[in-house]
Amino acid sequence: MSSTEHSTSTTPTPAPADRTEFAGRTALVTGGASGIGLALARRLAAGGAAVVVADYDEENARKAAAELERTGARAAAVAMDVTDPASVEAGVRFAVDTFGALHLAVNNAGIAGPSSPTGEYPVEDWNRVVATNLSGVFHSMRYELPAIVAAGGGAIVNMSSILGTNGFAGSPAYVAAKHGVVGLTKTAALEYAAQNVRINAVGPGFIDTPLLRNADPQAREHLISLHPAGRLGTAEEVAELAAFLLSDRASFIHGSYHLVDGGYSAP
Ligand code: NDP
Repeated sequence: MSSTEHSTSTTPTPAPADRTEFAGRTALVTGGASGIGLALARRLAAGGAAVVVADYDEENARKAAAELERTGARAAAVAMDVTDPASVEAGVRFAVDTFGALHLAVNNAGIAGPSSPTGEYPVEDWNRVVATNLSGVFHSMRYELPAIVAAGGGAIVNMSSILGTNGFAGSPAYVAAKHGVVGLTKTAALEYAAQNVRINAVGPGFIDTPLLRNADPQAREHLISLHPAGRLGTAEEVAELAAFLLSDRASFIHGSYHLVDGGYSAP
């Protein structure tokens, strides 16, 4: 066995999904055309769900849905801007009209925003990041919840971050929004548990997706060094946790925040 095979940076491949796990369920994934959202769309489709890929980037959403259909899954794409409540309402209606009901949702669309100290942070970037990463999750649940309740219940996962409980210098808007997602998740979970809807949040460490595309090699090495696992996470590793939380195997898990962070938050 080579030394690389012992390395902490080895990335395991998640086990194949059980094709019946989400059979008969419809799932909506916001930001589903890229990164973690795309991995989730693939994971839910592999588990038998009909998947609606909702994304700002309509062309990539269509490509993602077409890819899922080629695997034999039922899938559709819808253009959605989570900062716009009317767009979210239309996207949820599209999911219900297309597949008959909505049972599962992953509110994952998000942006990083620039890096700048709070006293210099551009106000327009603050508004854009909060509108996408926090208001976007509210808008999504605002229209998903009535649909899921009408379907008899289901589950929602909201994409927070390790920065949902930790600070990070230079990212005030992102950190505030991701903390907000955790509080919003807990509140909605309290409100809807009795109606058979489980709502949880996931807190990934730094994950190797296009969101980190602007990080220069030095910044990337620094990010890696923050994870005891010795590497960035993969979108598939986040998708595996979120899929578990959406599944009936997580039937007693309500209103909590779950890390998948290579040990980032352990110290
Ligand atoms: P990506 O940039 O790969 O994917 C995000 C997707 O969301 C893109 O397709 C993007 O479209 C879309 N999107 C952006 N704004 C909107 C909007 N207003 N309405 C609808 N869709 C939108 O990012 P990741 O997969 O890395 O991130 C997914 C989620 O995970 C985010 O919420 C992020 O904050 C969170 N996260 C990511 C971490 C990481 O290290 N990567 C760590 C912790 C959490 P477009 O490309 O056109 O902008």
